[in-house]
Amino acid sequence: MTKKILQRKVHAVLTRLAAGQVVNGITCPPINVPMVGNIRLLGSATKTEKGEKIAGTLTAIMYLAPADSGGILRGGKPLNLCPWFSPGCRAGCLGEHSGRMRHDSTSNAQRWKTALYAAAPNLMRDLIAVEASALEKKAAKLSLEPAIRLDGTSDIGLALLWNLPQSFPAIRWYDYTKSVKRLDKVKAVSLPNYHITFSASERADSPTGAARALAYGYSVAGIVNTSKPDVALLIRQVLGLSGDIPSVTVADGDNSVGDARFRDKPSSLVWLTVKGGKPVATKLGKMVFSV
Ligand code: SF4
Repeated sequence: MTKKILQRKVHAVLTRLAAGQVVNGITCPPINVPMVGNIRLLGSATKTEKGEKIAGTLTAIMYLAPADSGGILRGGKPLNLCPWFSPGCRAGCLGEHSGRMRHDSTSNAQRWKTALYAAAPNLMRDLIAVEASALEKKAAKLSLEPAIRLDGTSDIGLALLWNLPQSFPAIRWYDYTKSVKRLDKVKAVSLPNYHITFSASERADSPTGAARALAYGYSVAGIVNTSKPDVALLIRQVLGLSGDIPSVTVADGDNSVGDARFRDKPSSLVWLTVKGGKPVATKLGKMVFSV
């Protein structure tokens, strides 16, 4: 199917949803539907632009509506794209703390993309494949490595669900997750071009997830309250330890490779400071490690 035909089909689905119709059991709140030709699922963010400069990577990210914030209903029940959210991360994401994520047009885009995912996942997968091919070509021209993160503000594992790393072996696919189970699934397939980072939080199962991610060779990311963290204390808190601490590679995520976690040394614990000052730190609450 050509890009134009695909976009027309996507437009038709979104137009029905925007008109309040139920499409494959899905309803959604009012959305502004982009015109055919302007339907784009993948975008970029400041953090990834840093990755482009530092790590030789051309990155694209898809942002869906985090957790249940899209107001999309499946069979009358709210659709939740972050089954393992913590109170802090949900408040932080819904507080729209990350620069460009503040605008109404951004929430509209997150909403129609989420509605499309729920109502017509095959169309979304096909359109992502078209955009992935274009990114791959653009990256080749720029002598950069293409990288895609589909769950930019969700935690459902779309890349693996749709076998995209296998279909596009030259692209680096990467995600963050708060799910211990997803780590096991990633380990089971062990694809050379797919990387996952465990996002440490105040959840009770976070220390288990962090330890498992490090054991599997994946990264762990944690938000901290200072730019000069006490490394031993950070390891203790993230891994939930009170006694001796294991030897762990700890890296400054603010000064390393932007969002390109797949450039981390295997089994790295990466810390990032809160972006957005006290108001954001307050929203994130116990998700921020005091170290
Ligand atoms: S931080 Fe991740 S899991 Fe938490 S609400 Fe945002 S996207 Fe979802």
